[in-house]
Amino acid sequence: MKILFYDTKNYDRESFQSALGAFPDIAIEYTKSDLDSRTAALAEGFDAVCAFVNSDLGSPTLDILHAKKVSLILMRCAGFNNVDLDTAKKYGMRVMRVPGYSPEAVAEHAMALALASNRRLHKAYNKVRENDFSLSGLMGFNFYQKTAGIIGTGKIGAAMCRICHGFGMKVIAYDVYQNEDLKDFVTYVSLDQLLSDSDVISLHCPLMDSTYHMINIETIRKMKDGVILVNTSRGALVKTNDLIEGIRMHKFAGVGLDVYEEETANVFEDRSDEILEHSTTARLLSFPNVMITSHQGFFTREALEAIAVTTLQNASDFLTCTESRNDVNP
Ligand code: NAD
Repeated sequence: MKILFYDTKNYDRESFQSALGAFPDIAIEYTKSDLDSRTAALAEGFDAVCAFVNSDLGSPTLDILHAKKVSLILMRCAGFNNVDLDTAKKYGMRVMRVPGYSPEAVAEHAMALALASNRRLHKAYNKVRENDFSLSGLMGFNFYQKTAGIIGTGKIGAAMCRICHGFGMKVIAYDVYQNEDLKDFVTYVSLDQLLSDSDVISLHCPLMDSTYHMINIETIRKMKDGVILVNTSRGALVKTNDLIEGIRMHKFAGVGLDVYEEETANVFEDRSDEILEHSTTARLLSFPNVMITSHQGFFTREALEAIAVTTLQNASDFLTCTESRNDVNP
C-alpha cells in the first residue's frame, strides 16, 4: 500500500519512519502541503492519504481523491469534524482515526500550565535572565489540600484527576457521565458547585453545542476569587471576551491556555499589526497572569509514537479487511 502523507513536519516523518519497520507492506511518501481541494490531485497513484486536524476533507477534496482512486483516509488524530463523512460513505472510502493516544501527555501539560501560571514561572524566567532576582509579583499558593475541579472525566480528565490526587488535592468533578474508575478519590458535583468550590479548574470535555462557551461571564462570576483556570481542550469552550472581562475584575490568580478561539485563524502566522490589534489572543497575552502555549498538549515522544503505530495498524487493518474500532464511518 502507498500512502501520501500530507502536512508533514520533521517529527512526523521521524516517528512514522521508525514505526514503519513493523509494516513491510506499507510505503509512505511525505509532502509538506496540507490536504485540500488544490492539493488532492497529488494523491494520483496512492491508495491512501494521511491527514491531520487542519486538513480540508470537504466534498470537493473527496471528489478529487475518489477520481484518483484513493480509498482510505487515515486521520492521524482523534477528531474528524473536518471530514465530509456522507461524501466519503457515498464513495465507499474508509475513514480511520486515532481515538486516544496519550491522555497523560495532555493532562501533564494541563498541570504544567496550572503550576506555571500559579508560580509565575514565565515571569520568573524572564526576570532572572535580566539579572532581577527579586520575588515581587511571583507569589502563588500551595496546591496541597486545595480543591481541583475537573470538568469532563473521560480519558484526559481522568488522568488529570489522578495527577491532582497525587498532589494531595481534594478532587471534585462534573461530567454528564460518571467515571466509575475514579470513585475512590473523586466526588461528582453539579457544575455550579464545582465553579464555586474549586481553587483550580481544568476543562477536559469536548467542544459540542452543549459545551460551546460554557465558561462565560455568568459561570466566571460563580467561581472563587483567585481561582486558576486551565483549558487544554478546545478554545471555544471559553468565551474569550468574557474571560478578558473576568481577568480585568481580578477573578483569576492565573489562566493557562493551550487552546484558544483564534487558533485556526493563524493569527500569529500572519503578524500584521492590524490583525494583532484586533486579536483577543494578543489581548490575553498582555496580562501577566496568563500563560498561553500553542496547542502542544499532545506533543510528547510517547504520544507521537502511539499516533504512528495506531495509524499504520489502521492501514494494515484496511489491507486485511479487518474491522476496527478506529473506523469513523463503519
Ligand atoms: P473523552 O471523550 O475521553 O472524554 C470527554 C469527557 O467529556 C467524557 O467523559 C464526556 O462524558 C464528557 N462530557 C461530554 N459533554 C460534557 C458536558 N456537557 N459537560 C461535562 N463533561 C462532558 O475525551 P478525551 O480524550 O479525554 O479528550 C478531551 C478533549 O481534549 C478532546 O475533546 C479534545 O478537545 C482535547 N484534546 C486536546 C489535545 C491537546 O493537544 N491540547 C489533545 C487531545 C485532545
